[in-house]
Amino acid sequence: MDELDVIVVGAGIIGSWTAYHLAKRGRSTLLLEQFPLLHTRGSSHGHSRILRKSYVDEHYAAMMPEAYKLWEHMETSSGIPFMKTTGHLSISKVKYGHVAKVRRWCEKLSIPHSTLDSQTLNTRVGLKFNDDYDAVIEPSGAVLNADKCLMSIQSEIKRSGGVVRDQEKVLSIEPVNKDIVRVRTNKNVYKCRSVVLTCGPWANELLKPLDLQLPLTVGKVFVTYFKERSVGAFSSNAGFPNLLCYVKEGNYMYGLPSDEYQGLFKFCYHHYFPIDPNERDKPQPSQQNEIQRKKTEELTKFIQNHFPLLESETSLVETCIITDSPDKDYILDRHPTHRNVIFAAGMSGHAFKTSPVVGKILAEMSCEEKVSYPIHHYSVRRFNKHKL
Ligand SMILES: Cc1cc2nc3c(=O)[nH]c(=O)nc-3n(C[C@H](O)[C@H](O)[C@H](O)COP(=O)(O)OP(=O)(O)OC[C@H]3O[C@@H](n4cnc5c(N)ncnc54)[C@H](O)[C@@H]3O)c2cc1C
Repeated sequence: MDELDVIVVGAGIIGSWTAYHLAKRGRSTLLLEQFPLLHTRGSSHGHSRILRKSYVDEHYAAMMPEAYKLWEHMETSSGIPFMKTTGHLSISKVKYGHVAKVRRWCEKLSIPHSTLDSQTLNTRVGLKFNDDYDAVIEPSGAVLNADKCLMSIQSEIKRSGGVVRDQEKVLSIEPVNKDIVRVRTNKNVYKCRSVVLTCGPWANELLKPLDLQLPLTVGKVFVTYFKERSVGAFSSNAGFPNLLCYVKEGNYMYGLPSDEYQGLFKFCYHHYFPIDPNERDKPQPSQQNEIQRKKTEELTKFIQNHFPLLESETSLVETCIITDSPDKDYILDRHPTHRNVIFAAGMSGHAFKTSPVVGKILAEMSCEEKVSYPIHHYSVRRFNKHKL
């Protein structure tokens, strides 16, 4: 390969969308992935992710109308069905006020939604909540099949002239000057005009030699599934939506219809243990086992209290990795010295749904185009000790 316009490092959902937007612009684009596609060692694998418009944060809510359009366009152009409209249900105790906030945002952004009183909620989806709880449903909520999303985008990258290479690990990024970056892998050495790093939990490995360390926490997440007492009760065909239950200030559980493994409802407590992504399955210290036991107990109790159609013992556990920034907002920026090194990191457990737009932003940054969304909010400069 001669000199390329852009190399994107990391074929998770962010890197794949970035490479897609670049290839669509006619840029010579190479997407490199260290593991064989479709692997399960990062954050973008599996069968289901929640898609919804009702974000309670204006920066992300602003991305969602375009994100929906891009997801729909991708599904049509690739011919691979990966999206199912299910509705999105938010539940919280009235006193926590979370659902009230969601409702206010839906009103402000004109997102169709309706409030469910506890009786309607219980009869409509077989749950058991009393009047202490508040619920709102957004009919446009949907479930994305993550693996099929990746397959679709990567096939569209190739159809637009881009190249995708897996099992090729990038070992170093060497900015030569403002127009050239050398990228060294375990198989090749490439030259490109700019590089976009979308390495998920491994972000700091390539940035460290460039004197930049991002304040990231990498965590292992347990994805838990519970058996339906009556098979299909939690399926989208039976009208079950995806849902978020806010249980305490800042804590939540989330659920997705039982469409992936028949008879199993995915319902998880959002929490994680810090890990090294290269040693994800190393036995965890006993202190972490104890925390995990307590979280499982809370989850079991919640199911016993509110999900009468579900067995409360875990039937299946899978794992995934999350990479959090300190304020849980994305980090999208360029290297302070090497402008042609752009990076996305700390996607903090909520970037699948916005990824079509995040990829567009990164493509615009790497092409030195006007960026379509305000990005100062995502700057690395917001972390004081990284003031540059
Ligand atoms: C259990 C779970 C549930 C979630 N649910 C939702 C949800 O419902 N809705 C939502 O919007 N978001 C959700 N998320 C978050 C979302 O999935 C992530 O934010 C998103 O997948 C992050 O993608 P990424 O591309 O940044 O990282 P990754 O998917 O980790 O991709 C990074 C890639 O870079 C590669 N790489 C790294 N270093 C190198 C190198 N040196 N050379 C070559 N390749 C390299 C890695 O192998 C990897 O494939 C969830 C996350 C988890 C874990």
